[in-house]
Amino acid sequence: MYRDRGAGGGMSGSKAEIGTLDRKRINDALDKHLEKSSPSTSRGLNGKEKERMSVPSTSAGKQPDPRAGGLSKNKCSDEESETDSEESDVSGSEGDDTSWISWFCNLRGNEFFCEVDDEYIQDDFNLCGLSSQVPYYDYALDLILDVESSHGDMFTEEQNELVESAAEMLYGLIHARYVLTSKGMAAMLEKYKNYDFGRCPRVYCCGQPCLPVGQSDISRSSTVKIFCPKCEDIYYPRSKYQGNVDGAYFGTTFPHLFLMTYPHLKPQKASQRYTPRVFGFKIHKP
Ligand SMILES: [Zn+2]
Repeated sequence: MYRDRGAGGGMSGSKAEIGTLDRKRINDALDKHLEKSSPSTSRGLNGKEKERMSVPSTSAGKQPDPRAGGLSKNKCSDEESETDSEESDVSGSEGDDTSWISWFCNLRGNEFFCEVDDEYIQDDFNLCGLSSQVPYYDYALDLILDVESSHGDMFTEEQNELVESAAEMLYGLIHARYVLTSKGMAAMLEKYKNYDFGRCPRVYCCGQPCLPVGQSDISRSSTVKIFCPKCEDIYYPRSKYQGNVDGAYFGTTFPHLFLMTYPHLKPQKASQRYTPRVFGFKIHKP
C-alpha cells in the first residue's frame, strides 16, 4: 500500500519551487525507484522489512498511512550522494514505532529540522493563529501527533496527499516557533555541533558551521538558506533537497537569536579577504 500511495505522491507545498524539469527528473527517478521496488521509501524500510510489508504490521491496522505520500521528499536516491550525509539515517530501521515527526525529520532534504516536542505541539497556545494558515488543520495536526482517527478511511488518495502536505506545512510553521524556545534552541545546538546545517563555502571562513535561516517569515516566499556566523552572509544549502525547503520553517530570527543565546559559539569575524590579482599585481580600483 505504501508503494501505491507513493506513486501518486504529488508535490507537497514546500516543493512549489521545483521547476518542471526537476519535476520530470524526479518523476523519472521515482518511476525507476518504484520499478526496482527499492526499499528506501518512507519510514525507513530496509529490504527485509519490505518483505514483511505483506504481513499485517502494527501500522496496518491504523489509518491508511498518508505519510507515504511524502515519498516525494525521498526519491532520486542515487543522486547527490555527495551532499547527503544523512542518507543512512533514512534507511535506518526504527520500524513501525517511528513517530510521524521523526519519520519526517529523517527524510532526505529535511536534515535542517529538529524534532519538535509533542508537548509543545499539544499546547494550543503555541499553535495560536496557525489554524487559519494551514488547510486541513485538524487532520494535519492529528497526523503530526500520530493520533489515530477514522477519517483516513473516508479520504480519497488525493485528500490524503493534501493532508500530508498540510501536515508538512503545519510542522514547518510550528518548527519556526519552536526553534526560538530554549528547548528548540538546545535541539538545534546539537544539530549545529553535528554540522547538520553544513559549512560556509567561503574559503576564508575555513569550514565554519552554518545555521539555517529564512529570508522571510511568510511561507512560500523563499527557500531556506544557510547563514555563516563568521562572514555573516547567507548561502544556498548544498543539497538541492534542502534547497527546496521553505525558509519560513526556520524564520528570519533563528540564527541570530541562537548566537545571542550561545554567545560563546559566535566566531571571530572573518578578517582575511580575498584579493584579486593579475600577474601578481593587485587590481587598481578607480
Ligand atoms: Zn562564511
